[in-house]
Amino acid sequence: MRYISTRGEAPALDFEQAMLTGLARDGGLYVPETVPAMSDIASLDGLPYEEVAFRVIRPFTGDSFSEDELRGAITRAYGRISHVARAPLVQLAPGHHLLELFHGPTLAFKDFAMQLIAQLFQIALKRSGQRITIVGATSGDTGSAAIEAFKGLDNVDVFILFPHGRVSEVQRRQMTTPDAANVHALALTGHFDDCQARLKDLFNDHAFRDQVGLAGVNSINWARIVAQVVYYFTAAASLGAPHREVDFTVPTGNFGDIFAGSIARAMGLPIRRLIVATNQNDILHRALSTGEYRVGTVEPSISPSMDIQVSSNFERALFWAYGGDAGAIRQLMDELKTGGFSISQGALETLRDQYASGCVTEDETLQMIRTIRDETGQVLCPHSAVGVAVARRHLEPGVPMVTLATAHPAKFPDAVEQAVGLRPELPPHMAQLFDLPERVSRVENDVAALRSLILERRTA
Ligand SMILES: *Cc1c(COP(=O)(O)O)cnc(C)c1O
Repeated sequence: MRYISTRGEAPALDFEQAMLTGLARDGGLYVPETVPAMSDIASLDGLPYEEVAFRVIRPFTGDSFSEDELRGAITRAYGRISHVARAPLVQLAPGHHLLELFHGPTLAFKDFAMQLIAQLFQIALKRSGQRITIVGATSGDTGSAAIEAFKGLDNVDVFILFPHGRVSEVQRRQMTTPDAANVHALALTGHFDDCQARLKDLFNDHAFRDQVGLAGVNSINWARIVAQVVYYFTAAASLGAPHREVDFTVPTGNFGDIFAGSIARAMGLPIRRLIVATNQNDILHRALSTGEYRVGTVEPSISPSMDIQVSSNFERALFWAYGGDAGAIRQLMDELKTGGFSISQGALETLRDQYASGCVTEDETLQMIRTIRDETGQVLCPHSAVGVAVARRHLEPGVPMVTLATAHPAKFPDAVEQAVGLRPELPPHMAQLFDLPERVSRVENDVAALRSLILERRTA
């Protein structure tokens, strides 16, 4: 299995190289040259999550890992998810189901990918003896998931950039309290988009990149997307796929989680519609509605993990919608530097065949947390509530709807309290979070400052 860059000017790589690299050297994102078809989807229903994960992921890893290595990595990764089903599906209403992706160690869906890639990184680095420096940008949940997954591992330092003052206290503490010497939480003066832009600056500085063995674990990393394909299969198979079509609604920011759904569909899973749900930072909803991808200003919201304007993984969807025309993508990304671009009519039609979309105001989000609590007793996190609100506009008799519940409500207690007047409790394994000392460094929104901090703090 070969991976090619959406911008067409970086070498094709195998799975392991694409995973260790993250962003392609031409600034593009790696996508598989072809998507393998999944056979015998009906047989997946009722299998352990780990077995489905092996069957879904195996065709993508090619020769990079042996079967035993991959199975071992999957077992270690998902053993850390506290629910025995790993990604349980619960019914919210007739025909509407919630896919709970928040039973991992940091209470958000990002654990599914991060726990697995940490195990795969470990195998690859042990084999090569190579040392790497992971730098990640986070709106909150990626960072905690990465720190939790990589803390204490050999041959790797992890630096996480988060927007100072713009992540929830639980998110911040999950990043600042682990005391392993190889993890470093950096609070950047700016928004998430600034964090992501500085991260791209580091990757585009090839000398620095080679000097520190820079690796990325943001959702631009193909290996993360692959891990997220799995739960689309477990959910749809339990609802009757391949004999029955299923709709999915996905609370979306960087377009990683929903793009994993597109991969599942390309592998043959009968997903009828993938529905993008955004908060007031609605660039994706606007782009799909109008064909104009125009960057606005980020409005902080109660669903901060979706507070972004530049949605990195959308480039992958564009690449496919433009029929793999890397030149066209390079042109669009050039235009993006000055604020945005228009999607061609043909590509827009392709995108609209695959994705529907909706956006949700702050008030609607709070209202939906209340409504679902009243109707079912279940307390949603604000991101999941955005998803459920959009899903409810798209319900159709006869087609089951699955909404991805991306985080545990206890990760966002202020918003939940505002909605329903109670503060959800942290699960027992996190009870000490508020007692542990924090370690964090402030850094300016400046790539030079960031570079020197990384060079100074590396344990290599
Ligand atoms: C990261 C995140 C999202 C958005 O996921 P993308 O893959 O960036 O679209 C939604 N909800 C929560 C809780 C998240 O942590």
